[in-house]
Amino acid sequence: LCFTSNKMKRYTFSTLLLSLSLTCFNPINQTVYGQNTSKNSSKSLQINEKTLSDILEKNKAFYKEGKVADYIPELGKMQADKIAFSVVNENGKVINIGDVNQKFTIQSISKIIALMIAVTEKGEKNVFSKMGYFGTDKPLNLETTGKPLNPMMNAGAILTTSMIDGEGEIPFKKILEMVRYITKNNSIDYSKSVYNSEKETGHKNRGMFYLMKNNGLIEGDEEKLNNYFKQCSIEATAEDLAKIGYFFAHQCTRFDGDTTYRNPEISQLIQSQMLTAGMYEFSGEYSRTIGLPSKSGVGGGITVSVPNKIGIGVFSPALDKHGNSAAGYHMILDLVKQYNLSLFQ
Ligand code: GLU
Repeated sequence: LCFTSNKMKRYTFSTLLLSLSLTCFNPINQTVYGQNTSKNSSKSLQINEKTLSDILEKNKAFYKEGKVADYIPELGKMQADKIAFSVVNENGKVINIGDVNQKFTIQSISKIIALMIAVTEKGEKNVFSKMGYFGTDKPLNLETTGKPLNPMMNAGAILTTSMIDGEGEIPFKKILEMVRYITKNNSIDYSKSVYNSEKETGHKNRGMFYLMKNNGLIEGDEEKLNNYFKQCSIEATAEDLAKIGYFFAHQCTRFDGDTTYRNPEISQLIQSQMLTAGMYEFSGEYSRTIGLPSKSGVGGGITVSVPNKIGIGVFSPALDKHGNSAAGYHMILDLVKQYNLSLFQ
């Protein structure tokens, strides 16, 4: 882990240097940076409904620049202008704005929960003997050979879920129960229609599953892949995502203070993976502009951990070209600027 975090520091530092030099030499650089624009840095955060509502109103039109994912046909049915913004503040209090009751599938966000469970059961060393800690320059689902780069891209995530103990549906049930625990929301379930749609059309995922089976990384049959499709189809709200963000920001302590799963090592690992690869191939630029461990899903959600402070959950289903929520990204960016939340101040 030590070696990894040194490596990560070097990675982050060189990403910063590269981004800085690009900024200096590109006079028409459009990037908006999330640091040092507010006077609030020394004060404790006092995020309220008005703050979130102002940010949501300012950024809601960004959905027009994105497109709702339809490569899983069932996802394409989501109304593009739905939007929600949630924060769990330092004291575990929830603030919600927008379409607060709108459920959507968490998709890739489920990968951080699966990683937590696999590492708890098998140990970090075992899990990462089969995959790397690398970032990526590839969109979410194009890895085809060798060991997966990391547990955040599809190949590594399918492998991670296959490593969770239990026959049949049990690994999926563990992921679902953990999401229910973290959010304290027992009504959370998965969407059967999205699951079936993923299963019917997920040929690339199936291809990667068999390549990894061929390479001796995965044992077992397609039930293991079905667990991955099911975890992606878990439905939640922006509030639930904010609670997941809070959980990893606070060493796996739940928003209400429950410490059943408290584990600083696991939360450090999960947040480092979120920072390195949580936003697909945009992760480096995201790290430069927002600078916080975050995980997005093609359902339009993003969960953000502000270490030792707050959790943020956003939802807006229209995605940018990297597969991240377009309006969601801009709402996070504004919150980060207003409260100096980037780790790299
Ligand atoms: N179920 C989606 C897939 O495997 C998850 C993709 C994502 O959210 O990144 O294609």
